[in-house]
Amino acid sequence: MGRLALEGVKKSFGGVDVIRGVDLAIRDGEFVVMVGPSGCGKSTLLRLIAGLEPVTAGRIEIDGRDVTALEPVDRRLAMVFQSYALYPHMTVRGNMAFGLETARVPKPEIDAKVAEAARILALEPLLDRLPKQLSGGQRQRVAIGRAIVRDPVAFLFDEPLSNLDAALRVQTRHEIAKLHRSLGRTAVYVTHDQVEAMTLADRIVVMDAGSVRQFDTPEALYHRPADLFVAQFIGSPK
Ligand code: ADP
Ligand code: MG
Repeated sequence: MGRLALEGVKKSFGGVDVIRGVDLAIRDGEFVVMVGPSGCGKSTLLRLIAGLEPVTAGRIEIDGRDVTALEPVDRRLAMVFQSYALYPHMTVRGNMAFGLETARVPKPEIDAKVAEAARILALEPLLDRLPKQLSGGQRQRVAIGRAIVRDPVAFLFDEPLSNLDAALRVQTRHEIAKLHRSLGRTAVYVTHDQVEAMTLADRIVVMDAGSVRQFDTPEALYHRPADLFVAQFIGSPK
């Protein structure tokens, strides 16, 4: 569970090619970080995987099943954005439960899932608070909690830490790493922060202008960059 495959995925907006034929095979449980300069198509690729945008060409598979034409809800992926997008009038508990309530999941099951997510993310003391009573890091944890309760086959993160100050960013990065170790769930994580990429990733996708330049382990990218672009982007000595 949690294998993702992209084959020849392309996306254009109004005739402009933004994703230019991407092939990727992501293993079950793998933590894949996507890096590349601003505007190279990272968010777009994540949105294509999530089904928030239709592909112009190509195919997306989850666990061997073609999901290219499926709605986001049928792909069973959870997306965590940089803006937390919490409902301001709902408590932490309410925010985490909302998606399950609309999906008509039975109440005892919702309570169990929210309790489990709150335990994993150390949100138990905060369950009755409103978003405005939380710090930025706590809000981002609630957003992650909202993703966890849906029991997704994979998590998609788009620069989840970029709104946090430096100290909180480090702390939340450690929490995300811990979360991944405990759940073992596939993650695709976009960032422009090299430290985040190097410390979180099993493998890193280096993108440039809508194409994948290299997809390999942090060590391999550092020691054996495919080209000068990758070397400069990763900051390797070559
Ligand atoms: P990144 O996340 O790597 O910074 P994006 O995926 O957000 O890059 O954007 C890649 C390119 O696609 C940019 O040039 C952006 O302006 C363009 N783009 C993204 N979304 C849209 C859209 N909905 N309509 C038109 N152009 C878009
Ligand atoms: Mg982006």
